[in-house]
Amino acid sequence: MIRKTRLFTPGPTPLLPAAQFAMAAADIHHRTPEFRALYERVLGQLKTFVGTKNDVLLLASSGTGAMEAAVSNLTSPGDRVLVLSAGKFGERWEALTKAFGCQVDLVSAPYGETLAPSEVKKALRPETKAVFVQATESSTGVRHDIQGIGRLLGESGSEALLIVDGITGLGTTKLDVDGWGVDVIIGGSQKAVMIPPGLAYLSLSERAWKAAETSKNPRYYFDLKKELKNAKKGESSYTPAVALIAALGAALDYIAVQGGGDLAAGRDALVENAETCAAMTRAAVEALGLKLFAPSAPSAAATAVLPPAGVDSGVIVKELKSRFAAIVTNGQGEMKGRIFRIAHIGLFDYMDTIAIIGALEQVAAANLNLPGFAFGQALAAAQQVFAERSAPAKTEKAPEPELAKA
Ligand SMILES: *Cc1c(COP(=O)(O)O)cnc(C)c1O
Repeated sequence: MIRKTRLFTPGPTPLLPAAQFAMAAADIHHRTPEFRALYERVLGQLKTFVGTKNDVLLLASSGTGAMEAAVSNLTSPGDRVLVLSAGKFGERWEALTKAFGCQVDLVSAPYGETLAPSEVKKALRPETKAVFVQATESSTGVRHDIQGIGRLLGESGSEALLIVDGITGLGTTKLDVDGWGVDVIIGGSQKAVMIPPGLAYLSLSERAWKAAETSKNPRYYFDLKKELKNAKKGESSYTPAVALIAALGAALDYIAVQGGGDLAAGRDALVENAETCAAMTRAAVEALGLKLFAPSAPSAAATAVLPPAGVDSGVIVKELKSRFAAIVTNGQGEMKGRIFRIAHIGLFDYMDTIAIIGALEQVAAANLNLPGFAFGQALAAAQQVFAERSAPAKTEKAPEPELAKA
């Protein structure tokens, strides 16, 4: 049979055709009124997409560049910081803050679990300058409670900045950036905004900009104050990734269409879409008798699944690719061979979700020897979830009277 290649990976994600066309047509110089108009429009759209009143900045780098910029612009050597880590991307915060001379307190959770608020509270010191965390940890498929962490910081009277890697959280997870007290939120182009890798974006709260005034870490390319000054004039400090910025504008237009022309509503629809794809996938793999790797707090960004005992997850990854050209990811680092991950970030729809679940049933039939396996188990569970989630909302019903106690 013909096999169409499809990415089910947590970045890069499938490309939006309209964004690809916009890239191909972006033959403009960056120091022109044409580019300034594009740049100002896209920066404005990003503000709505992120959901903040603060300025959003764009950087020509992968997501990690904006993570580094947050550390180099907001901390000084010797600063006490708290890193909340539950996977490979949490470990990246730890490595980055140490690279810039911070004294790092670490709260970590085992892979597959989220952080215990009580431990976060215990680890917070009066001198903690910043707390670093992921909204969703793509390496394990877990979701962290950013609202809860923000509330905890507020209640403890901590002055620490809350710095959130939302690279796979934005567009898959409800995030009330300003309302929850998030000081820095970071996104990347190859995730929910459906365009190729190469752009990072981030926004800083007023408090964060104040911290940038006194930060003593060295920086040059990622000088956020300089970038902000230029952005206000519709310019970037250095040659911007023009084609990617054109693509981003087209993608944000597409997301707005999902909300009937309202970008914030479109972003919410995109989040709901990811939540539905993730819920379908979780129900499907559990119906096969497979176990979720992050069952207590699964993210809508990616679903991580344990293979049956004794099976290397690489077999499933390889079979899905060779038989169906469906690209799912293996575990990272020491999780390699132990899990496989199916992403739901960005341009995945009902059809894609049903297709990957159908293909997974074929692999299960041929390779997994699951007790009681029958075709249709996973698909039926996913169909049920979809039907429930897409049913028209019922009108509020009066609560059933409590049954009289016998
Ligand atoms: C993809 C990703 C990143 C950034 O990785 P880059 O390769 O630098 O773009 C950071 N954090 C999370 C949670 C991610 O999923």
